[in-house]
Amino acid sequence: MNSIKIKLISSLFFTCLLLGAIVFLMTPHMIKHELTEDALKPTIRAYQQAIGQYQQTHPSWGTAEDAKRFALLAEARLDANSKPQTSHQIDSLVTDSNGYSLKPGPTHRAGDKISLDIFDDPEEIKINGRVVAYISPIDEIPLSASDKTYLHSVEETLQFSLLAAIAMILPFAAWKGSQITRSLNQLIEAVNKMAEGDLQQQVKINTRDEIGLLANAFNSMNTRLVNAYRELEESHQLIEQQAEQLKELSIRDELTGLYNRRFFNEEAKLLLSNASRYQQPLAAILADIDHFKMINDNFSHAVGDQVLQQVSEILLNGIRSSDLVARYGGEEMVFILPNTDQAKAIEMMDRIRLCIEEHPWHKTAPGLAVTMSFGICADNSVEQLQARLEQADQQLYRAKREGRNQVCINQ
Ligand code: GH3
Ligand code: MG
Ligand code: MG
Repeated sequence: MNSIKIKLISSLFFTCLLLGAIVFLMTPHMIKHELTEDALKPTIRAYQQAIGQYQQTHPSWGTAEDAKRFALLAEARLDANSKPQTSHQIDSLVTDSNGYSLKPGPTHRAGDKISLDIFDDPEEIKINGRVVAYISPIDEIPLSASDKTYLHSVEETLQFSLLAAIAMILPFAAWKGSQITRSLNQLIEAVNKMAEGDLQQQVKINTRDEIGLLANAFNSMNTRLVNAYRELEESHQLIEQQAEQLKELSIRDELTGLYNRRFFNEEAKLLLSNASRYQQPLAAILADIDHFKMINDNFSHAVGDQVLQQVSEILLNGIRSSDLVARYGGEEMVFILPNTDQAKAIEMMDRIRLCIEEHPWHKTAPGLAVTMSFGICADNSVEQLQARLEQADQQLYRAKREGRNQVCINQ
């Protein structure tokens, strides 16, 4: 991966190199330009004076005639005044503002028209702020030995400065780059952890730059996301609880809290098919409260309801967690006892029967007594639920017929 750190170092390094190259190329050129300007200054001053004097005696300026005349009149004087005052000797082209040569040269005479285009950045000669002539060096200025030494030392200084700048900038860029990548790596790690499901992430970046702003934005976004996720989970849990409650309501009998007949039928079929698959004994039982109509009639319907609730509680306490009991209808209850043979079924039902009989019913209503009759079918050759229940019902009928408050089983 081309990291930001490497990009930062390389861009600063190449910027240094580029700046160095520009400075190296420009400096000698600019120094020579300065020297040329310096060398031309006495000539410019001499021409200013000469043109000023010429214009005092001659009102016109800017024609070929003026140029010729000026050249003749001023030749002697200019020669004297423009004698080099610096160590540089430089030959130059001088024209008036219209391009007429004010000075004869090797290929032209005074008064010849010279196209101003051939001047490469000419110096202006001004009198009272008005350009009256142009002067431009013909050759490159010859450098003296001291100039060359100066130029060389400037180049050496530049070289040294460039190397020193690179030597300082590279570690600085590496340090800065490390700072930036360290912060970014923190953010990347936090985002990756979030993507893996570890939602709660906070990064510690206290810089005041854009990365610091990004980190703050990330932290507040994460907090909001985590809160929203928590709320979502809570409402999800609530929905699950409500769904569970709804399911419970749909499978339970409202008065007794026992399973209802519909749920019993589904569960009982499963238990029965499991028992026959694994060749295990199973008992199906129908039970009915004795003379319940009389209880209602003698003690009220409300007492009848309480009897139903208390009987249900006794039934639930009397069975194992693997057993199933449900309200089959009215005061009639149904059991499926997996892994239970005849003897065990009789023993369990008789215990429950006794519990009902011995329950302190007088606390519910003075004079109240409740008993229950039971019919068991533990015949494992009967595989259909309905057939089992019919046989259990026959035994219940027998129990009723033979005096109630008893357990009957088909042998
Ligand atoms: P047996 O001993 O032969 O079973 O006689 P029984 O009186 O218990 O039988 P029967 O079927 O004649 O009466 C059942 C009564 O149960 C009739 C009905 O009004 C009453 N009953 C059914 N459901 C409820 C209920 O939810 N609450 C109350 N209080 N009574 C109910
Ligand atoms: Mg009854
Ligand atoms: Mg009944």
